[in-house]
Amino acid sequence: MGLRVKRRDGPDGVHLFDRRTGLNVLLDEVDVPRVQWARAPRQVSIALTNACDLACPFCYAPKTAAVLDAVRLCAWIDELDAAGCLGVGFGGGEPTLYRRLPQVCRHAAERTGLAVTMTTHAHRFTPQLIDALAGGVNFVRVSVDGVGTTYEKLRGRPFSDLVQRLTWIGQTFRFGLNCVVNAHTLPDLDAVAGLAASTGAAELLLLPERPARGRQGSGPQIIAALHRWAAAYRGPVLLTIAEGDTGPLPLAQPLPRETGLRAYAHLDATGTLRRTSYHSAGEPVDDRGFLAALDRLQQKDAA
Ligand code: SF4
Repeated sequence: MGLRVKRRDGPDGVHLFDRRTGLNVLLDEVDVPRVQWARAPRQVSIALTNACDLACPFCYAPKTAAVLDAVRLCAWIDELDAAGCLGVGFGGGEPTLYRRLPQVCRHAAERTGLAVTMTTHAHRFTPQLIDALAGGVNFVRVSVDGVGTTYEKLRGRPFSDLVQRLTWIGQTFRFGLNCVVNAHTLPDLDAVAGLAASTGAAELLLLPERPARGRQGSGPQIIAALHRWAAAYRGPVLLTIAEGDTGPLPLAQPLPRETGLRAYAHLDATGTLRRTSYHSAGEPVDDRGFLAALDRLQQKDAA
């Protein structure tokens, strides 16, 4: 079978992406004229709903009830696809509480060339849900911040349940683990990396806790310890870290000129577009569409 890749033109060259394998190829010797650069961000995270059935102490998701309309969402997904976006990441709240999740994922898979990823606590993944999502989701990110009792204290669910669900998820999807790092979870990093390796995860994403909702966040000492841990890490699972938390770590920067809203934007569950979920300023996506809201957000930031 031939490779079916999506092409995106931008300031770093021609970017080819295969959503089925996650393969990226950058032709950086191509000097793409500015008028041909993709208008959409490379990646857009979308909070489908603010609802969640867990109560993690470090949760920064808004607690006001909000949910995206599926028909409007599919129209925005089409618009993003046509404007050169490579992938959407569904989150929340908990995306598996979004009633139309299988339909929206199927729409993206069948009608667009977008990769669909999802960030989830995984406890609602059953064989039935996995069947409904199979073929519509390219990568699942599971939130795991510790093992055993550390995990259970933070998430309030049995760790053995999580391991069972990781096994099911791994039989159908490529997946990774997302780990919020703070003073409480730092000592578990070796064990989380071991869990990632033993369950077949493709990636371990390190997320230093941000200050929010009266919590102080990781702080410089924890971030420095995390950097030391990452620099010494020799495990088989690929490590990634959130932009802005990289400090002195030597990192691969494959697309150094595609920054800000060219690289990433966040749509919250009220339908407001923001630079990231941590930014308060935003623009509502209305009947004028997603790209019009993106232009307004760019102008607002430039003013
Ligand atoms: S699972 Fe995620 S959205 Fe739900 S409470 Fe925990 S951090 Fe918040």
